[in-house]
Amino acid sequence: MSFASLGLSQALVTAVHNAGYETPTPVQQQAIPAALQGQDLMVAAQTGTGKTGGFALPILQKIFADNQEPARLPKQTRVLVLAPTRELAAQVEESFRLYATQLPFRSACVFGGVGINPQIRALAKGLDVLVACPGRLLDLIGQKAVDLSAVDTLVLDEADRMLDMGFIHDVKKVLKQLPAKRQNLLFSATFSKDITALANRLLHNPVRIEV
Ligand code: AMP
Repeated sequence: MSFASLGLSQALVTAVHNAGYETPTPVQQQAIPAALQGQDLMVAAQTGTGKTGGFALPILQKIFADNQEPARLPKQTRVLVLAPTRELAAQVEESFRLYATQLPFRSACVFGGVGINPQIRALAKGLDVLVACPGRLLDLIGQKAVDLSAVDTLVLDEADRMLDMGFIHDVKKVLKQLPAKRQNLLFSATFSKDITALANRLLHNPVRIEV
């Protein structure tokens, strides 16, 4: 199976080949077509399986359909990725950038423990994808530095760690800021009772993928 046969554009196929990838991993083979169809996903995948490409590639494909500059208002973010730690958030943003080298892509990554003002300035420039840790995102929402009213795709990455670290209340507050009509992609290493409960509330007829 090839990346092109999964429905990815030449810009993305070239970028993954430049990154040294030859074939999609099992989670990518399953997640990419389902995400491109607009379905909600519930994916059980550990770090190292290529899960980030499993959501970043179809998201980029959808933003940059036809390789055109995306249709968007200057400051409206369409995609929000929530991650439990700053390290993961930074890695996820780096993956998006790696896959988007051939595209006019704009992203930002926000997390706590560093100054908020540079993040406010980055958000003001307008973004395609915002990668965020929940606590800092709530601070930015409180300061009216971020507009989530046009988000049509939400990713919860490493949702099990998000719950283990006690972020469920922050995540629920963020969810309240998002338009109800959106695609939701939930990734977790395991599916505990708590994750399943969250998935039942968040996801609509999800495609379940386990690798
Ligand atoms: P992840 O599970 O998303 O953290 O990815 C683990 C590692 O696998 C990262 O270093 C990726 O760059 C790499 N990777 C992702 N997809 C592929 C692929 N299709 N072929 C080879 N390496 C990949």
